[in-house]
Amino acid sequence: MKITGLRCAVIGKHPTLRITTDEGISGYSQIESSKASYIKSHVMFYEDKIVGHDPTDVERVVQRIRRLGSFKPWGSSVSAIEMALWDIAGKSAGLPVYKLLGGKVRDKVRCYNGNVRIPMHGNEPQHYAENMAKMKELPQKFSIIKQGVAFHSGMPTEQPNFFYGENRAHAHHLNRGTLTPKGFNHLLSCIDAMLEVCGDDVELALDCGPGMMLPDAIRLAKAVEGKNVAWLEDMLTGDYVPYTLAQNYREVTQSTSTRIHTGEQIYLRQNFVELIEKRCLDVVGPDPCDVGGIAELKWIAEYADLHDILMAPHGTIDGLFGLAALVQVGATMPNNYIAFEYPTGDPGWWYDIVDGLPDPIVVNSYVDVLERPGIGIDFRIDAAKKYLSDEDKTFFD
Ligand SMILES: [Mg+2]
Repeated sequence: MKITGLRCAVIGKHPTLRITTDEGISGYSQIESSKASYIKSHVMFYEDKIVGHDPTDVERVVQRIRRLGSFKPWGSSVSAIEMALWDIAGKSAGLPVYKLLGGKVRDKVRCYNGNVRIPMHGNEPQHYAENMAKMKELPQKFSIIKQGVAFHSGMPTEQPNFFYGENRAHAHHLNRGTLTPKGFNHLLSCIDAMLEVCGDDVELALDCGPGMMLPDAIRLAKAVEGKNVAWLEDMLTGDYVPYTLAQNYREVTQSTSTRIHTGEQIYLRQNFVELIEKRCLDVVGPDPCDVGGIAELKWIAEYADLHDILMAPHGTIDGLFGLAALVQVGATMPNNYIAFEYPTGDPGWWYDIVDGLPDPIVVNSYVDVLERPGIGIDFRIDAAKKYLSDEDKTFFD
């Protein structure tokens, strides 16, 4: 079999890849919707490097392009190509992708809520508590709920004098600085209010940055010790930061019993070696669509497991093909696996243009392993075609 082409269309909000072959099998994958305005030409940069090669030799094809990617957002094109290749390899073999990754070690895969959001009507601790109460009642019954706080939230904008610095509200987390006493106490009050609602039914994960300074990170981690916090995420470096500063993370992690989490922006297994070997964190959270793909994610999970470091993959708004990929690889991970971040389809008609997802998708925070050959879902092409923009109208031809 040979690859004949690569396409990328933005369908709804989701950049969607299609790899075509000379045997009529197509592989699909998706990239985070926040990259939709610029990622298409970056994906197409790789086309001539993979055409003519056998898509079922996934690693051999990915070796041709892997060195041409980088930290978020520039690892997502290589990552999405890798996942579409697995879709082809699975369809060609008549097997779900988890079989090709070594087989499943669980029949249902745990996920957590970072993306099913309920609007918050204020910025005070009671508003955080009310919001958490509603999230607890979502029909998916998520067992871990993640909330953005500190620099990963509106706090720097909403709270006067939250930190010593100029507020630069921006999607790519530009704020960084020391918290004022007022800011730090507000942060703790909001966390405590949410913890009270969580009780011990639901674990609270907190996405905190990037942008906190090391002393604040240590005192926050110490302040929530012994409480029901699943992890503190990206306090120092993280989302859209093109480096890790592993030694700084090590100092936080070694100072506290609270679990420290990072990794969603990191590209490739090599960039986890120091974090894992020097015990700079307790939980790794690579995103399959930024780290280099699902085999890359599986390798990191295995290496983390050797060091008793936990795995909770990131999966922000990667759409339903991203969800399927996370289920496939999540089924194969070792016992350090906690849960993946549950991606959703946007707009809602996405659920009408694919086959293969269970209904309901999430039951008590778990998704059943998808048994269909390939990544586990496929397009209903006639239904999907009507949502293609003029620019992309030949995507399925
Ligand atoms: Mg995050």
